[in-house]
Amino acid sequence: MRPPSGPHVAGQMLDAVIRARLHPARMPLAFPSHQGLIAPVWRRWPRHFTVLGCAIGAAVPDVVDGAIGLARGELGQGIGHSLLGLFVLCVPVGMALDAATVAAARAVSRSSRRWSALAASHVIRWSVTDGGETRAPSARLFAGACSVWLGALSHLVFDFVSHGNFLWLHPWYDGAEIFPAWWHARWLEIPFPGYTEPYPVGPHFAVWMVLNVVGAVLFFLP
Ligand SMILES: [Zn+2]
Repeated sequence: MRPPSGPHVAGQMLDAVIRARLHPARMPLAFPSHQGLIAPVWRRWPRHFTVLGCAIGAAVPDVVDGAIGLARGELGQGIGHSLLGLFVLCVPVGMALDAATVAAARAVSRSSRRWSALAASHVIRWSVTDGGETRAPSARLFAGACSVWLGALSHLVFDFVSHGNFLWLHPWYDGAEIFPAWWHARWLEIPFPGYTEPYPVGPHFAVWMVLNVVGAVLFFLP
């Protein structure tokens, strides 16, 4: 059987994007909150973890599940938010994104535009640990992999708290009802223009908002 292609796939992808917009709870704020929530790690142990690896790792579960969701025509959390996916998908994908980001930064660093070159030099600096420039390539690779892994693990932890669905053991066990009923209580519902269903506001939403604000503050701390 031939795989679907062309307009069919494009239509599925469009449907997936539209569905995701209609269900805002499925689209967590991946930046800068997730990066901010892992920021204490790279600030506390700059010789062990890279800023870039942690920051990319903190977003990569959504990247993995977003790509899978667009391909299958329905967005949502899945293997990218599991411990299995953490090792077999998130770390390699995160390291590939890390390498691509550094390559792009190196290209931009040769730009004659001062601000572009300055931003690129920061990205390149953030891709190695403190003192990492003199270490063997294997040690630098290991530090990068550990950074992506820890960043992705932090994403799983904070998504579990703020979303309430337990996917860590997916595909063997999906515990959707880990939290008690009060966690999913609806204090009120807010209708959003363009959305089919009003957004439920309750404990889950409050914690989600607090984590977003705390993450954003931690991200922009000096
Ligand atoms: Zn997520």
